Amino acid sequence: MSENNKENQDDVINEEEEDSHQDEEPKEAEESTTKAKFTFKCTRCDACCLSRGPIPITFYDLELWAKNGVIANFLPYLDIYNKPDGSIDLIMKPLPPKPKEGEESKRDPFSPVPIEELLEEKCPLYNKEKKECLVYQNRPLSCRTYPLEYDGKNFTIVDVDCPGLNEEGMTKEELKEMRDTAKRMFYELTRMRITIPVLNQLITQKVMIDLMRQNMEAMSKMSDEDRAKLDEIFKKDQEVPEE
Ligand code: SF4
Ligand code: SF4
Repeated sequence: MSENNKENQDDVINEEEEDSHQDEEPKEAEESTTKAKFTFKCTRCDACCLSRGPIPITFYDLELWAKNGVIANFLPYLDIYNKPDGSIDLIMKPLPPKPKEGEESKRDPFSPVPIEELLEEKCPLYNKEKKECLVYQNRPLSCRTYPLEYDGKNFTIVDVDCPGLNEEGMTKEELKEMRDTAKRMFYELTRMRITIPVLNQLITQKVMIDLMRQNMEAMSKMSDEDRAKLDEIFKKDQEVPEE
């Protein structure tokens, strides 16, 4: 979903229903008296599945998929996203759009389309013809809380154009569930963002050490003649051409 549609809308989140928020921190309850009513009912317009862009994935999702034995269904679409702000997310990535006629041959099959070019593409697990989510029971936490998010302090609306906003009919229980899910998403995403860079570092380090070990083993098995040829190639590479 486009960043243009993302807006801090703390003022539209209703936290007035006291009996549904008895477990809230006092500060949050205090803030609620100035906030307007928030109602939401998904209209199933599917706009959020059609132009969703990368979906952040959390441990909650991985654990759910592992428990339900469906993790392999998601693997082809998972990727690591180095975000412009320096953070790293595990994401579910949209498929690149089909190349326009005549442009097929220009695309390098070995270089993936940058994530920045997929921000408005449909979710890979959305069936456009049938208008349905192919993994509804196992959909990511991010889809369960959409369009509501929590940033550790305030609730925000990530898509102010979502037609479900301000739809009447939301019960107190549904509101509480949505807010709890948004809070859970924040907690799970924070866990993920702390863990991924550490794992990334460890895995990169391990891959480098394995590569070096393999190189050294290969070198030790070379004949003197082959080693001399290799030295010759390295020497040539290092020679500075005369002007
Ligand atoms: S969450 Fe909003 S955008 Fe997504 S399907 Fe429901 S109403 Fe449409
Ligand atoms: S996983 Fe399902 S609910 Fe989530 S964006 Fe994809 S199609 Fe929509």
